[in-house]
Formats: sequence, C-alpha cells, structure tokens
Amino acid sequence: MTSPKAHDWIMEMAPYVPGRSTVEGIAEPVKLSSNESVYGASPIALEAFRATADKLMRYPDANSNDLRDAIAEIHGLEAEKIICGAGSDELLTLLIHTFAGPGDEVIYSQYGFMVYPVQTAAVGAIGVAVPNKNWAADIDGILEAVTEDTKLIFIDNPNNPTGAYNTWSEIERLHAALPEHVVLVLDAAYAECVIAEDYSAGASLVERADNVIMTRTFSKMYALAGLRVGWAYGAPGIIDVINRVRMPFNVCVPGHPAAIEAVKDQAHLQASVDFNTKWRDWLTAKLRALDLDAVESQTNFVLVAFPEGNRCALACNDFLTARGYLVRALASLPNHLRISIGTEEQNRSVVALITEFLEK
Ligand SMILES: *Cc1c(COP(=O)(O)O)cnc(C)c1O
Repeated sequence: MTSPKAHDWIMEMAPYVPGRSTVEGIAEPVKLSSNESVYGASPIALEAFRATADKLMRYPDANSNDLRDAIAEIHGLEAEKIICGAGSDELLTLLIHTFAGPGDEVIYSQYGFMVYPVQTAAVGAIGVAVPNKNWAADIDGILEAVTEDTKLIFIDNPNNPTGAYNTWSEIERLHAALPEHVVLVLDAAYAECVIAEDYSAGASLVERADNVIMTRTFSKMYALAGLRVGWAYGAPGIIDVINRVRMPFNVCVPGHPAAIEAVKDQAHLQASVDFNTKWRDWLTAKLRALDLDAVESQTNFVLVAFPEGNRCALACNDFLTARGYLVRALASLPNHLRISIGTEEQNRSVVALITEFLEK
C-alpha cells in the first residue's frame, strides 16, 4: 500500500506557527505583535465595505480594473503595470512559484520577512540568506551572493522585523549591478510609514527596468489587514507571468470598493502616518531611556534589543504576555522583541510594564 506523497522538500518544511492572539484568563489581550494599525481604516472605506453586503452573490471583478485605476491615479502610475492580490503575500508567493524551482536560488536578508524563506522552501528552491548590514539589506553582500542560478532577490524595504531601510541610491546601485535575468522584488509593505527623505518605494525603477517589481499592501497603514488586499507595480513581462498563475477572483467583492475608497482618502492616511510617526518616535525614545537598544524604525513597529543572557527578552515577553500585552519574540533574534505601535494608552502601558520588568 502506498499513501499520497508530497515533494520531499515539502516534508522538510516546518508548519507555520502563528503568533498567539489569546492569553488564558485575559478577555481581550492587547495585540502588538502583527504590525496591524491601531489608528483604523478610513471611515469612507469602511462604509464602502458595508455597502457590499447585498452584492455577495456575485463574483468579484477578476481584473480589479477600478482598483487598479484608483491606485494608478493616486500614485501617478500606469494601470496596466499594476496587479492586485489577496494581500501582497499572494503576489510575493506567486513570484517565487513562477520564477523559482528546484536548483534555483532566491536571495533575501537573514533578518527579513518570513514569507520569502517559507515559499522558497515550498518550491524546492535554495534560499540564500545574506546577513543584514545596519539592520537593513547589505547591498554588497547581496551582490556577492548572486550566481547564475539566482532567480529572485527580495528586499523588504523598510525591513520587517528590524524597521530599518535602504536608501534609494543603494537600491539603484544594487539594481545597476544585477544581471538582467534576476528579478528584483522591492517589498514596500511599510512605504506609507516612511519619513526618511532618501527613501523611495521603487516605482521609478519599475518604469525603466524589465526585471523589477514593487509590492504594496492595504494591510499596514491603510489598516485593512483583514480584507487581504495588496498590489504590485511591475515590468509588463513580470505582471504577465503572475497574471497567468494567480487565481482569477483573488480580490474579494468587498475588497474592491473598500480599497478604492481607502487609497482615495489620502487625508486619513496622512493622519494615520502622523499618529504613527509621533508614537514610533516616542516609543523609541522611551526604550532608549531604559538603556535598551531600539533600532531606528521607518515602520509601524520598533525592534528592541535586551541585555544578553538570562533569556532577558523572552522573560520580558512572558512578563508582558501574562499581563495581556502580546508583542513578537523572534526565533531568529533571540535577544529582541518587536513591538507594534499601539494606541497612546497601549504604548504608555507597554513602556511602564517593560520598566517594571527591568526593575525586578
Ligand atoms: C505585512 C507585510 C507584508 C504583507 O502583508 P499582506 O497583508 O499580505 O499584504 C509584506 N511584506 C512585509 C515585509 C510585511 O511586513
């Protein structure tokens, strides 16, 4: 008797363990572990979402035409080069599934977004993790890692989980030195949060190169993570390939009008960005005042290092969890915690709790 058998490389993968969202004995824990927005989505977007309730017997627009037009108009882009997806996760995943397979190499930073190594393993390709430099991508290290077998390079810019970013001139330098067969993926999930003036998400490079794609999301600063809407702007050849393999109805019926209104409501986005900047700076300063090493962040979270030894970060994580505050402990960075920006009250409480923990 033979039972069904998956590819060997699939059986080598560890199943995904999601971050916890419940704590025994605590009715509603404060979740600062997934970089969700506490500011909330545009009220106009939420109204548009509700208005779709009586349209759910219909399939959605398979080409997301109105959403692509709205994104193109706001960002000054060409709608034909935009593709929408069920979160940018779908598009990042499809990039790996279409361009890489057994024997191919996919490059990303050692500390970076989990989707890249997981999906690289899923297709049986070889993941090449390049150590970070100043917490962002090490451009020279990545260039040294490129081989004939390299199919894709992922730069999460700014980086998750570190919050650091690469300047636009560094990204341009990377692209200029790349062989043309390599697809450069600029994952700009946090682009809306960035204040740094020497940053750019990547659209101008997409305009003039055949091997670049920028991914964006409505999950972070637009506060629509539960809706699962993301998009990408890419060279026509790359967009064409993903369009061949994606599921036809990947963006749901409520997703279209809600995302359209969200992107049109730039005043709400700006207010949300201002809130995020204010509290990100505040949290960073407070953590540093506690003598903790907080990485300078351009995102909606802060990565903070704890003193070595005594499992300090993990002990602090347990201390916070027991009091109903969920932050993210990272297997790859055992001395660190990643803390998403919360409401004013949540930010103040998390700092008070960490202070209490350190005084113990
Ligand atoms: C959150 C995140 C994403 C995407 O999330 P979606 O909800 O799938 O759009 C992509 N890249 C990075 C680095 C992220 O942190």
